[in-house]
Amino acid sequence: MGLQALRGTTDLLPDDLLRWSRVEHVARRLARLYGYQELRTPLIEDASLFLRSVGETTDIVQKEMFRFADRGGHEIVLRPEGTAAIVRAYLEHALHKTEGFVKWFYLGPMFRAERPQAGRYRQFHQYGVEAIGSSSAWVDVEVIVLCLAILRDCGVVKTTLWLSSMGCRDDQTQFAARLRLKLLPVRSKLCQTCQGRFDRNVFRVLDCKSPDCQAIVADLMASERGLRPGSFESLCESCLLHFDEVRQELRNAKIVFDDTKFFARGLDYYTRTVFEVRAEGLGAQDAVAAGGRYDHLVEDLGGPSVGAVGFAAGIERVLLAAGHQAQPLPAASRRGVYLAVTQSDLLGQGFQFLQQLRERGASGTMDYDSKSLKAQLREADKAHCRFVAILGASEMSQRAITLKDMEQGSQETIAFDAFVETLVQRTNASPSCH
Ligand SMILES: [Zn+2]
Ligand SMILES: [Zn+2]
Repeated sequence: MGLQALRGTTDLLPDDLLRWSRVEHVARRLARLYGYQELRTPLIEDASLFLRSVGETTDIVQKEMFRFADRGGHEIVLRPEGTAAIVRAYLEHALHKTEGFVKWFYLGPMFRAERPQAGRYRQFHQYGVEAIGSSSAWVDVEVIVLCLAILRDCGVVKTTLWLSSMGCRDDQTQFAARLRLKLLPVRSKLCQTCQGRFDRNVFRVLDCKSPDCQAIVADLMASERGLRPGSFESLCESCLLHFDEVRQELRNAKIVFDDTKFFARGLDYYTRTVFEVRAEGLGAQDAVAAGGRYDHLVEDLGGPSVGAVGFAAGIERVLLAAGHQAQPLPAASRRGVYLAVTQSDLLGQGFQFLQQLRERGASGTMDYDSKSLKAQLREADKAHCRFVAILGASEMSQRAITLKDMEQGSQETIAFDAFVETLVQRTNASPSCH
């Protein structure tokens, strides 16, 4: 058998990238519109970063990280998510001292050793934003509004926003104690992993993927309405106030949300506002985008006590959801120039024209293998070129090029002197092939 891409990874061919680039372009454009600047962090990080942020008892850290020792024996991890590394960068470059509040946007691959399934890969891709250095409820609102705006412009229209609050650390400690009390009678029925987590981090039972644990959690949530993060009984006065503010401003911004659903975020660092956007066409387990506040993470990683909030969206899932809902994209319009040369001794002249066009910003391509004119016209069609410029013996003798406009179906002859200028002007509106 020939060589194949690793399980859970995939090649993105040029046709795939047409759809991908659109998502990336929309995300980047809207993030800038809201004042978020792009940053990039390395794909590999020190393992301890994720142990200290995502949490040692989470599924991500226990089961899903690609973790290995480098030649010097350092524990390295292929980043499983974006937030921890971004907070590390914020602190490493001392932005808490020079900038205070930053609004950042990122885009790139993440890695998790999950069982591959529809829309889930071992190398998957996310875009996301992080606003670090503020505890204002307005930032929560801005991040949620931006998250929904990007999805909408990517063609993911039928979405539901689930909103909740995890409360502060005090709230979480009290909530954990109540949860332990309720789970104690069924402790022996929990999966092996959860029995181990029971004392150290009982929250992880809530997002355990084992069917037994999920059934127990579902029963518990049905019988104890007050017993879930985000329920009014589990929040202190100040967290409830923050949550009320977020909800009120979302309503004012005409954002519809559902704050009655129970959902657990599989990372330890979340506090206060958490949200998930569910899209039609994805499995019941799958959010297309998710995020929330992480008010202790900067401090936990050695910085000052400042609030922060962000979200991440999976590009594969956005495309999957858009595929179910999006109106078909308008047919790609023809662009650029294909320079067809009918005999090999004219390659030099053809290449010169092509370079002049490219230097003036008009995109173009040509055949270097002396294919037949018919084959070259086929290639031009496949590449969606708007113009085909034909250079043959008769053209050379007349010092004029035959120009076909593939969109209009017209043909004309243009003198060598006027050729480049004419093409630059005509391709100006749609400067590149494809
Ligand atoms: Zn609180
Ligand atoms: Zn479990």
